[in-house]
Parts: sequence; structure tokens; C-alpha cells
Amino acid sequence: MARVVVIGGGLGGTATSARLAKLGHDVTLLERGDRLGGALVPVEQDGFSWDAGPSSTLLPAVLRDLFRKSGRPLERELELVAMDLVREHRFEDGSTLRLPSSRAGQLHAVDELAPGLGERWVEHVASYAEEWEVLRRHYLEVPWDPEAVPRELAALLDRRESLRRRLNRSLRDPRLRLVAAYPFLADGQDPRDVPSWAGVRSYVEQRFGAWTFEGGAEALAAALTARLATRRVDVRTGVRATDVVVRGGRAVAVATSAGEVDADVVVCAVDPRGLPALASYVARTTPALPPVICHVGVEAAAAAAAGLPDEPHDLVVHGDPMLVVRAGGTAPDGARAVSVHGRGRLAEDILLALARQGIDLRPGLLTRVDRSPRDLVAQWGGSPLGVQWQGRRTVRRRLGPRTPVPGVLAAGAHATPGSGLPYVGLSAALVAQVVGPA
Ligand SMILES: Cc1cc2nc3c(=O)[nH]c(=O)nc-3n(C[C@H](O)[C@H](O)[C@H](O)COP(=O)(O)OP(=O)(O)OC[C@H]3O[C@@H](n4cnc5c(N)ncnc54)[C@H](O)[C@@H]3O)c2cc1C
Repeated sequence: MARVVVIGGGLGGTATSARLAKLGHDVTLLERGDRLGGALVPVEQDGFSWDAGPSSTLLPAVLRDLFRKSGRPLERELELVAMDLVREHRFEDGSTLRLPSSRAGQLHAVDELAPGLGERWVEHVASYAEEWEVLRRHYLEVPWDPEAVPRELAALLDRRESLRRRLNRSLRDPRLRLVAAYPFLADGQDPRDVPSWAGVRSYVEQRFGAWTFEGGAEALAAALTARLATRRVDVRTGVRATDVVVRGGRAVAVATSAGEVDADVVVCAVDPRGLPALASYVARTTPALPPVICHVGVEAAAAAAAGLPDEPHDLVVHGDPMLVVRAGGTAPDGARAVSVHGRGRLAEDILLALARQGIDLRPGLLTRVDRSPRDLVAQWGGSPLGVQWQGRRTVRRRLGPRTPVPGVLAAGAHATPGSGLPYVGLSAALVAQVVGPA
């Protein structure tokens, strides 16, 4: 049995802790905040509660596997709800695309933009099928060694083509290029710096669907917290890790605001740039910053009058700035909880920018919480969006599941295979494979 110390109580750290405890290890989880969940912890004010970050996930099998492998199945703890409609895109030319998750639904919906476009779109998405298989087999489901990459994976990762170039090549209609690039634009990425293969996300979304959590992201945080109690993980909230203590060339402890905690194995599930023992290995990475976020409580009638959908999908208003309206969260009777995320040129109040796009939430405004990217990174102790893509080499510059420091592993959004709930969930499974049973 190894003494494992996990740093960071977001999805990455809690999922790793649950898995390693189930494998028989003695696990201590350190979280600097007073609650577990990281980006899953909601924002609360005046009786409203908003999802602070994620409101849906792809690849539900990742969470199902986590819960099954660490105790009772997910279905007993939390309900995942399939989204019929994953997003509504409003383009600058006034056209709208309501994108369902199924292939047939997407074909039909995209065809309504212009006849023939639906076929083009589903062909583009299907072009990722082989890449998905290669990634799944050699990168997502087995711990990789960046120095010894199987030939077919190397061929994919070393390709020079950027996502932008692939979309330009594959999709003539600029609106479809925006739809395909949207997840990266929302994460603050520049498609010129994102490798072509990362666009596999459109394939994953169409093939496995998008899912919300009954009760919001908070319900996932609560289920994870309960699971750690069941697995007898020693959870220490209010404790900030300051470094990994390395002696004799190996990690032996974690230095914290409350003294050293001895460890045989350390798992870094935070931005490693904040831990001096790891910082030099990730010096060439920069974090992907969160958007400007405004959480608002509005009168339900005003939200309806502004044309806000009643469903949980994102409403994306393309342009500069790009504005995303998310309807997740809970509100007092007669009101709605809505979050607005902004990316790009935002020189004015975000609600005014949204009003200019025909969605005016100001008349029925009951309360609002504004968060700048800087506030958010300070609050989360790092960005839950992980690492900024800087070309094809970035994939090898992230740590994880192994790191160059013996005894230290890496999970979470800053580690392999990247940010977003499904990938962060996979990072925990990869770490558990490397550590193995007690
Ligand atoms: C605005 C926004 C919207 C998003 N929307 C989606 C979405 O719809 N779907 C999706 O799949 N993903 C989404 N994501 C991404 C997803 O939320 C993250 O990738 C994921 O939650 C990251 O989990 P994590 O555990 O790596 O990090 P975090 O959730 O950031 O958790 C890190 C934890 O570590 C703690 N910590 C930090 N430093 C220390 C330290 N030194 N010592 C101890 N504890 C420390 C923090 O307090 C925090 O609790 C979104 C992210 C953002 C920001």
C-alpha cells in the first residue's frame, strides 16, 4: 500500500483519489479551498446558484467508469441527461443553427442553412473516425510515454496541419468552420495553434452525445465528495500545497501551508507551474484563460421576452466579441439563473454587448455577479482550462500521467490528455493505471 498525496480537489484530484483508494492505497487529498469540486463548485448569491464552469460533458462513459470502478455505479448517485439539442449558433449574417447531437439530426439541421451543407458537415465529422481510434487506443486509454510513441500515434501528433487549415480545407461555409472551431474558441484557443487532430471533438460529440447533470455540476461535485468519504480518503480542505519535497532524487512529501505531508506517490492535479519542483518542466506552457463571465438572475418573464431558450443548451452569438449564454443553475420562483461568457473585444458592459445582439436581460435584472479571467484564475488557483495550444508540440509539453520527477504523477486539466470533464476524468484513470493496485 502506497501513501498517496493528491494535490487539488477538482474533478482531476477527486477522481484520482477515489480510484487510488479503491485500489487499496492510503490516499490524502489536499484542497486549498473549503469545498471539493474546483470548477464544479457553483457561484451563489441572493438565492440564485449558477454553474461556475462546466454545465455539460461529452463521453459519459468516462464518469460511468469512474463511479463503477470506485464503488456504486453512477446511476445510483447522479442522473446524466442526454441533450437533444447541444447548441444554438447565431451567426453574424442573421442565420441560426440549432445543432442536435445525432448524426441524422445534424445532417438535417445543417442542411437548413443551405441545401447540401448537411452532407458536407457529416462527412467532415466522419473524417475523424480513424483518428479517434488511434487516439483512444494509444493516448486516451493507456498511459503514454512521449519519448516512445507508437508509429500511428506519432504520425497523427506530428502532423503539421493546424485545425484552422483543416477546417478551411474541409468546410467551405464559414459558419460551419465556426461550429467546428467553437469548443476551442470558447476555451480561448486560436485554431491556428490547435493541431488538426484535436478537432476530433466534433466526432466525439456526434457519436456519444452531450450530457448534463440533474442538479447541475454541483451534483457531480457532491457525488464525488460522497465517494471519497466512502473510500475513506483523508480529505484536507483549507490546505494549500506549496511544493513537492524531493530527496534522494524522489518525491518524499508535499510541503503545504500546514506543514509537510509524507508521501510515497504524489499526484499533481493542479497547474504544475505553481509547484517549484515541477515548474521548470512546464516552463514552455502557458495557461488557457477563462472567459469574462457574468452570472445574472433575471425575471423569468424578461428572460422569455429576451428570447432565451428554456432548455439547457448553450446559445452562441458569433462575432467579436463572441458571447455564450448558458441557462444552467437554480433560481427562486419566477426567476431564471443565466450565465453569459464573453471572448474577444469586450470594451463595454457584457450585458450591453448582449443587448446589442437582441438579447436584453437588463430590464428584468435582479442580481449579477461579474468575474474577470484574472478573478477566476485567482479563485481557482489556476485555470481549469489547462494549457494553451501553441502548435503540435504542446501535446508533448504537458505532463502526465508520468512526470520527470520520480514518484510524481500528473492529472487534471493541465495534464495529459487535456482539459474538459471527459479528458480530466481520463487523466485520473491513466494515473491509476500507472500506480496500479496496492
Ligand atoms: C468557464 C468554463 C466553462 C467550462 N465548461 C465546460 C463544459 O461545459 N464541459 C466540460 O467538459 N468542461 C468545461 N470546462 C472545463 C472543465 O471545467 C475543467 O477542465 C475541469 O473541471 C478541470 O478540473 P481540474 O480538476 O483539472 O481543475 P479545477 O476544477 O480547476 O480544480 C483544481 C482544484 O485544485 C485546487 N488547488 C489549486 N492549487 C492548489 C494548491 N496549490 N494546493 C491545493 N489545492 C489547490 C483548486 O482550489 C481547485 O479546487 C469549463 C471550464 C471553464 C473555466
